[in-house]
Order: sequence, then C-alpha cells, then structure tokens
Amino acid sequence: MVIFIMKFITTLINRTMKLALMAIFLSSSVSCQQPPKIFLENYKKIDLLITNGKLLDGLGNPAILADLVIVGDEIVFIGESQFTKEDLVNRVKQHIDAKKQYISPGFIDLHSHGDPLTTPRFENFLAMGVTTITLGQDGDSPKVDDLSRWLETVEEKGLGVNLAMFVGHGTLRELSEINQIVVPTEKALNNMLQRLDETLKYTFGLSMGLEYNPGLYAEKEELIAIAKIVGKNNRMIMSHMRNEDNDQLEKSIQELMIQGQFSKIHISHIKSVYGKGTKEAEDILRILQDARNSGMNITADIYPYNASYAGISLLFPVWAKTTQQFELALITRKEELKTFLRNKIIKRNGPSATLFGTPPYTGKTLEDLMDEFKLPFEDVLIKLGPKGASAAYFIMDDELQSRLLVAEGIAISSDGSPTGFHPRGHGTFAKIIGKYVKGKKLLRLPEAIKKMTSQSANILGITNRGVLKVGKKADIIIFDLDKVTATASYSKPHLLAEGFTTVIVNGKVARNEKEMAYLNYGKVLKPD
Ligand SMILES: [Zn+2]
Repeated sequence: MVIFIMKFITTLINRTMKLALMAIFLSSSVSCQQPPKIFLENYKKIDLLITNGKLLDGLGNPAILADLVIVGDEIVFIGESQFTKEDLVNRVKQHIDAKKQYISPGFIDLHSHGDPLTTPRFENFLAMGVTTITLGQDGDSPKVDDLSRWLETVEEKGLGVNLAMFVGHGTLRELSEINQIVVPTEKALNNMLQRLDETLKYTFGLSMGLEYNPGLYAEKEELIAIAKIVGKNNRMIMSHMRNEDNDQLEKSIQELMIQGQFSKIHISHIKSVYGKGTKEAEDILRILQDARNSGMNITADIYPYNASYAGISLLFPVWAKTTQQFELALITRKEELKTFLRNKIIKRNGPSATLFGTPPYTGKTLEDLMDEFKLPFEDVLIKLGPKGASAAYFIMDDELQSRLLVAEGIAISSDGSPTGFHPRGHGTFAKIIGKYVKGKKLLRLPEAIKKMTSQSANILGITNRGVLKVGKKADIIIFDLDKVTATASYSKPHLLAEGFTTVIVNGKVARNEKEMAYLNYGKVLKPD
C-alpha cells in the first residue's frame, strides 16, 4: 500500500514537472523568433542592421531587447541576429548600434498641413519622429482637376516623409462650381459626387471643414450624398466639425454621425472651445462610446496644445467670411459686425488670447495691435479683414484636453505645418512623450507610442506600417527617451524637436541627428 502511494506521488510529481517544463518550453518558443541560422541563409545581403535597441512594437506591448534587420524597404527579422564579425563585414551594408535607445515604428500624423511642392523635405516632422503625414485636410485639398497627376508631381519632386492624401469637400464644391450655394443643382451635385468617386480610388478619404467657407454651406442632404459615396468606396470621412464650442460640440458630433450611418467617420483635432474640467471631457467620451456601442465606426485625433491656429475669418460671422461678403457687410451691417466681433473676442478670453502668426503682425497679440493702431479690437479686426491674418487662439482647458488625449480611442495628430506660427508643427510628437509620459506620467511609453503609430495606421486603414513586425515596411525611429524634447514654443515655434537620433523611412536613413546629410525617401501611399 505504502509502495503504491509512493509510486502514485512520484507519478504525480513527474507529471507536474513535465507540465511545468512543457509550459516553460512553450512560452520560450512563443517569444523566440525565427532561428537565426535559417534567416542567415535566406538573405545574402542585409541593407540595415539595428542592434542593441529596446524595441517597442507599436501595439502597446512592453519593450523587448531585440535586433532588427531590414532588406530593401522591409523588416525581415526581429530577434537575436547573432551575426559573426565576418558577416558584419561581408553582408551588412549599414549597421546602427542603438546603444540601449528605444526603437519604435515611425509616427503617423493624422492631421497635417503643408505644401509638398514648396517644402518637400518636411524636416519639422522628421525631427519629431514622424514618417507619414496626411494632407488635404479641413475640406481643403489642392484645387486641381486631376489630383492623381498632382500626386505624381509631388513624388517626382521627392518627399522627406510618406504622404497619405485626402480630398477636400470644400475644394470639390469649388471645382464643381457649387461654391457658396446652399442647395446645389442636381447637375452640380452629381458633378461633385463623380469627382469624389474618382478621387477616392487613390486617396485615403474625404476631409471636411464645415467651419470654413465654402464647406459651411453644406446641408444634411449633401452630407448624406457624399457619405454614401465615401462608404461605397470603403473610405473614411475626416471632419473639422461645424462648431467646436462647448455648447455646440454635441450637436456637431451628431451632425457627423448622420454621415456615420454610411461611412467610417473621424473627428479631426477634437477639442472643446471654452469647455472646462474633466467632467466635460467624460461627457464627450461617453457620446463617442455610445456611438461605437451602436455599431458606428467613429474615431478622433487630438494635439497636445491649448491654443488652436487658423485664419481670422474664423472670428467673423457666416455673412462676412469672404472678401465679397465682408465688403458688403461694411456697407450694410457694420455696427452688427462690430458687435459680433466684440462678443466673439470677449468669449474667446479677450484680445490678449489671440496671437498673430502671419506677417506683418507675427508674434503680436490682438491687444498689442489695439495699442499700435489706437483702435478698439473689433476695429482692428475690421481693419485686417477676414482674410488678413492667421492666429493662435488660447481657448482650451488643459485639464479637459488632457483627459481626452489619454482616452483609449483617441490618436495623436499635430495639425501643424513646416511654416505655421504654432509650436505644434515642430513639437507635437515630442511633447506627447515629454509632457504625458515623462512629465505628468499620464501615459506609459508603449501606450503613447501606440497612439502615434498602430492606432493611427488602423484609423487610416494602412496595414503595412505603424507596427514593428516581420513583413512590415521599415518606417522606424530610434530615440533617446531622456533627451526627447519639444523645444518649439509660441514665441519660437520653428525650433526642431530633439532626441530622435535616427529616422528611417522606407528602409533608408532619412535623418540622423548628428550627420545632417539626407535624401528624401518618402512615398505617396496608396490605400488598400
Ligand atoms: Zn482643422
């Protein structure tokens, strides 16, 4: 009996040990990559080898120590490469020792501006780790009959970063000669829909700018008609919504959700103008969650600054936004216009909260111009006119915007450009790490990286970028976490971000913080 019990216990111990060993084996074989030897046989030449880095995959997983091997524009191996000295000499074209720095996918900016024909390099974006930008935003894309031809010219000229292009609703309205007409004729509407249908074949979606002329003239039926075309093409609508004021925000989201019944929808640079505190942020997040629960595909992006930036026509009433309307208003409704502008500026935190960013007023506030012109601020604005300047407006609450920014479903954008007089164009992606990861510690590094890489790629429908995995395109950044800094400020908005030591675009080193000798390796991306 005793012997039997002993045997039983021994069997039990053996089994448990076997199971434990098997578990160890399984877990190690899961985390273990393709065996290096097979890999070594597969590729005679290695274009780029990055060793010693702490690799963040972009999916939110913790960093792992791994080497990364690139052939052409593709990641072909992640793991322990075990190259011999001989291999390094004979087979590896370029070797970067990441020296315990982080390696992550290049950032994808969901809302960017700029003219690739005048500033094709986009150094501001590369310097803050961005390898893909999105243009044609806020309803405004190049006003050309054939956007595909324009994109060819852009690519021929060379691009520092990859470009995911959108077609603008306001521009399509202009090309179809609808302009400021509220209800287009059937012929004009069909013309616009046909242009949209054709352009969506090679762009990532439609952008809308319902706060701007001429997008603001569009009404429900038009919005539905265009959403149907976007949905049919399996693309998305990115919207600068009609009104971002805290008391109008829900209404604006609901207007976008009408389109969401027919296509994927996305809120550009989500913000609550004049809103305050986390409770308001929670309310906004609840609206988005409810929409998702009801089956709608709705996403959003946000930038980490509390001032917006736009043309001052934004301050003018709908009946005085264009030069023609404005001139007429000066004759027929001048006092009404003055009252409107006065109330608007008071609501927008007063004249000191508007900072001009275009010459000859660059760096001056509306308050400064009051002193300079010896005029009340509403008269200063009338003197400039709706097309007279662009400005930064300090109208957001840090607590509210920060709550939105860290929320799970919200990805990052800069809304910046190489030339705009706002620090977001040079600082955004460094500031996310500087303020939210290192400073306030509201995001873990892998989470922050995910918001700037795979999450953005998912929103755009880009399947081969935004993640570090074998088979994906090699858009990769190497950064020194301690040194990542957004140096751009409101007074010096054009200072390049620091800490991103190497930026790789399509498998090639596009920027190196030390050497400063580069070529353009960006591509015009094609949607799936
Ligand atoms: Zn916008």
